[in-house]
Amino acid sequence: MANWEDWIRRTEPYVPGEQPRGDRLIKLNTNENPYPPAPGVQKALERMRAEDFRKYPDPEASALKAALAGRYRLTPEQIFVGVGSDDVLAMAFLTFFNSSRPVLFPDITYSFYPVWAGLFRIPYETAPLDEQFCLRPEDYRRENGGIVFPNPNAPTGLCLPLEAVEDILRHNRDVVVIVDEAYIDFGGESAVCLLDRYENLLVVQTFSKSRSMAGLRIGFAMGSPKLIRALENVKFAYNSYTLNLPSLVLGTEAVKDEAYFQETTGRIVRTREKTAGRLRQLGFQFPDSRANFLFITHEKADAARLYEALKEARIYVRYFPSGRLAPYLRMTIGTDEEMEQVLAFLEDYLRRN
Ligand SMILES: *Cc1c(COP(=O)(O)O)cnc(C)c1O
Repeated sequence: MANWEDWIRRTEPYVPGEQPRGDRLIKLNTNENPYPPAPGVQKALERMRAEDFRKYPDPEASALKAALAGRYRLTPEQIFVGVGSDDVLAMAFLTFFNSSRPVLFPDITYSFYPVWAGLFRIPYETAPLDEQFCLRPEDYRRENGGIVFPNPNAPTGLCLPLEAVEDILRHNRDVVVIVDEAYIDFGGESAVCLLDRYENLLVVQTFSKSRSMAGLRIGFAMGSPKLIRALENVKFAYNSYTLNLPSLVLGTEAVKDEAYFQETTGRIVRTREKTAGRLRQLGFQFPDSRANFLFITHEKADAARLYEALKEARIYVRYFPSGRLAPYLRMTIGTDEEMEQVLAFLEDYLRRN
């Protein structure tokens, strides 16, 4: 006999990082920005009224798209927006990865990619990173149904130079290539400048990290008008009103303040470099990071035990218990003061253990 339970769409969910509550904790586990959003965001928030929520928001997100188009020297027809880049990426998987050929992505990467592939029944294959966690562009020269990779990569922080990104594009003109640039504003070279030459390139970015707005859920994609139109068609076949009114208004405000953006991202890069130097002195090893986190390991400290000890001290970092990642911890860059406290803890921990 048929049972309704047999017809449920079963899928393996993504497990997000912990969101511990309470104060006096140092939260370095989900790559949030330690600084508040641009001051204009607070002011615009104060101008909002509950009355504004009576009506539906702009389904075209015109103001936000116009602001982003101005900032990245593109046209609004080259911009797609969504509820965080997770939503944009999910929509892009659904739209562009629609062949029976396998989609390609690295074996060590953002762990949401295999989850979306599973949900949408997209076949995929992974290409292993080399011993130093570097992506090899030559691994992306086989037949495939599309390509996606983060640049800088997560959780390693390593950034591919633009020539390597272009090498992948040059060898894959017949499929869509998605570059997930969640961390690009912390010192990497964006592929946006390649959009002119590659109609099949989609660059995805987010307000969650460099613009301090993870809680509002705003992400966007930049690509050729053809790619963007295809994404919009799928979006309007699914949910016309993805971004809510506060996200549209406050997101637009954030993009206007370029000076604040440059100042806060610059500050995080300086704190990262200072922290990296001190960690190296303590014997930690890590790949060269162009992101707002460091992927650290220590010959004399077991990662699982260090993770627990940090948590005991109310310092939260991310630990990936399996495979090649098991000896590492991913630590977000916080404020200078937070990193001082973490370094003091680590110094003491290594002395005691
Ligand atoms: C954080 C992150 C995202 C998703 O961020 P949103 O908050 O959904 O915008 C996407 N890709 C990578 C690699 C990330 O680290």
